[in-house]
Amino acid sequence: MISENQDILWRLTDVAFGYNGTSVLETINLELRRGYSYGILGPNGSGKTTLLDLMGGLLTPDRGTIDFLDQPLPSWTKKKLAQKLALVPQEFTVRFGYPVREVVEMGLHPHLHRFAAPNEQDQTIIDEALRLTGISHLAKRPVTRLSGGEKQRVAVARALAQKPQVLLLDEATSNLDIHHSLEILHLIRSRFEKQGLQVVAVMHDLNLASFFCDQLIFLKQGKIICQGPTREVLTPENIKQVYGVEAEVRPNPFTNCRQVSFRLPMTP
Ligand code: ADP
Repeated sequence: MISENQDILWRLTDVAFGYNGTSVLETINLELRRGYSYGILGPNGSGKTTLLDLMGGLLTPDRGTIDFLDQPLPSWTKKKLAQKLALVPQEFTVRFGYPVREVVEMGLHPHLHRFAAPNEQDQTIIDEALRLTGISHLAKRPVTRLSGGEKQRVAVARALAQKPQVLLLDEATSNLDIHHSLEILHLIRSRFEKQGLQVVAVMHDLNLASFFCDQLIFLKQGKIICQGPTREVLTPENIKQVYGVEAEVRPNPFTNCRQVSFRLPMTP
C-alpha cells in the first residue's frame, strides 16, 4: 500500500541528468506542494521538458532522488502512477489513425481491469472530456488527420479522461490560437480550483503563466535561477537574468493579473 503525504507532491533532491553524457540538469532541489499551480519557465534548451519528463517518470535521474506523493518514483508501478498522474506532452504523436474518441478513451485504461470495456459512466467521462476541450465534432475523425492545435486538445481530453490527481503539461497550448489557449487554461484552472486537480505546466508565454500559475520556477542552462510566488518572482530583474531581455511588469486591471512587456536591451 502506498502511503501518501497529502501535502508534498514532488520532492527532488540533488537531481542531475544528462543525455549521452552531456549534462542538461544540475543539482535540482525542488519541493512542489499541493494547492498551488506551478509554472516552469526558461529559455529554449534550458531543461524544462527534461525536468517534466523526470517528474513524470519517463526519464531516470543520473544522480539524486525524486519522490512523488512521499514515495520514491521508481517504486511506483506504471499503472499506479498513471492512476495519479497524466502528462500532456509537447508533441502528441499517435502513429495509427485511431478515431479521436478511442484516443481519449485510452486515458481511462489505467482505471480499467484488463480487457474490460468502458461502462456507461466511463462513456460519460469521455463525452465530457470531448465536450470540455471543444472536440466533440471530431470524435470520429482519425487522429492522424488533425491539425497540431486539434491534436493538442485531444491530448488534454485524454489526460482529463485519465482522472488524474496531478496534471503535467508541456507547453500544452503552444499550438493553439489565443481563444483555444485561454479556453484550455481556464478549463484546467477551474479543475484546479473546484476539483483540486494539481497542475505543473511548462510554459512559454510569460503573460499566460502570470494568469495561470501561482508559483513559478525559472530555469536557465539546467539550473534553477529563482522560484516562488508569481507576483514575487515575475520581476524585470529575473526576466532579464533568465531571458536577456528588458521587461516591464505591471498589474493589468483588464486581465486582473500582472502583465509583461518586453524589448531587447538598448544598445548604447
Ligand atoms: P527545454 O524544454 O527547456 O527547451 P529540453 O529539456 O527539451 O529543454 O532540452 C534541454 C537540452 O537537452 C537541450 O540542449 C536539448 O537539445 C537536449 N536534449 C533534449 N532531448 C534530448 C535527447 N533526447 N537527446 C539528446 N539531447 C536532448
